[in-house]
Amino acid sequence: MSAVHRRNSVRGRVLHDEPLAAHTSWRVGGPADRYFEPADREDLLAFIASLPARETITWLGLGSNLLVRDGGVRGTVICLHGALDGLAAAGDDEIYAEAGVHCARLAKYAQTRHRAGLGFMAGIPGTVGGALAMNAGAWGGETWPQVVAVEVVYRDARAEWLAPGDFHTGYRHVEAPAGVLGFLGARFRVGADERGEHERLTREWLTQRKATQPVGKPSAGSTFRNPPGDYAARLIESCGLKGERIGGAEVSALHANFIVTETGAKAADVEALIQRVRDLVRDRTGFDLQPEVRIVGVPA
Ligand SMILES: Cc1cc2nc3c(=O)[nH]c(=O)nc-3n(C[C@H](O)[C@H](O)[C@H](O)COP(=O)(O)OP(=O)(O)OC[C@H]3O[C@@H](n4cnc5c(N)ncnc54)[C@H](O)[C@@H]3O)c2cc1C
Repeated sequence: MSAVHRRNSVRGRVLHDEPLAAHTSWRVGGPADRYFEPADREDLLAFIASLPARETITWLGLGSNLLVRDGGVRGTVICLHGALDGLAAAGDDEIYAEAGVHCARLAKYAQTRHRAGLGFMAGIPGTVGGALAMNAGAWGGETWPQVVAVEVVYRDARAEWLAPGDFHTGYRHVEAPAGVLGFLGARFRVGADERGEHERLTREWLTQRKATQPVGKPSAGSTFRNPPGDYAARLIESCGLKGERIGGAEVSALHANFIVTETGAKAADVEALIQRVRDLVRDRTGFDLQPEVRIVGVPA
């Protein structure tokens, strides 16, 4: 982390040449030209308004679905985790969460109020903003079916509440209306969990996750989307690719759709391994796996 300075009227932290390896779950990736952590929502809006119109902006939550290339990211990276962390119940049927809230915290908040519907988020190691951008899901649950309304920000720093119907959403896919820059937060629908059935299921899901995923090793969860009618993990395993390595990146021996890294790994190792897996699976099975992880930045 290098020079810290404040822009006029902006209260958050602006860092230059901030290494993004420290902000991604793969623990790889080069620096951001500028890296901003707002003090709160108003601070974020003031910062966006202060940026030159042509500045490139990249959003970052917990970096749990991001491969940042070794040359880093040009322009400004805005990180909301730990900044926009407001959480509030709105009656019995809705919970409001700001975009920087950890998904597990949102799930726990609902659970302690005996509300059902957000338990699938308990094991997702990302933020609400990332979940909205990815339509994150697990165990049959998905982010967008729970959304009542979402607050977005435009490039001119105007904020607005939109309805889910304004977006095209699908499996790990979200298309926002033209001009939307990013998510500030959302109101989520929850139901009653009177007999604690949802809470019991959530605990079961977490136990299964620990048993089937390499949770202790740096990864970005599922590397590839499941193709229609099949599973990426099954296809990769059927090609004998568990344990396949390039540099410090390896196809997990526990879950074939996870790529894990070791200390000293480069983003280039991960990207090359993604490409090798894609090529071999395409040659041997005919399926062209599509990455679920987002790849950003420039090579070293
Ligand atoms: C061990 C492990 C298990 C996982 N399990 C699951 C799982 O079960 N289900 C699942 O769906 N995913 C899973 N993931 C992947 C990941 O956690 C999710 O995709 C998560 O939603 C990403 O959130 P994030 O905050 O880390 O986003 P990031 O990785 O920081 O960003 C992901 C994308 O969202 C964009 N983004 C982030 N915040 C905003 C914002 N406020 N406005 C606009 N765009 C934004 C970023 O620019 C980027 O394009 C797993 C990952 C790991 C490491």
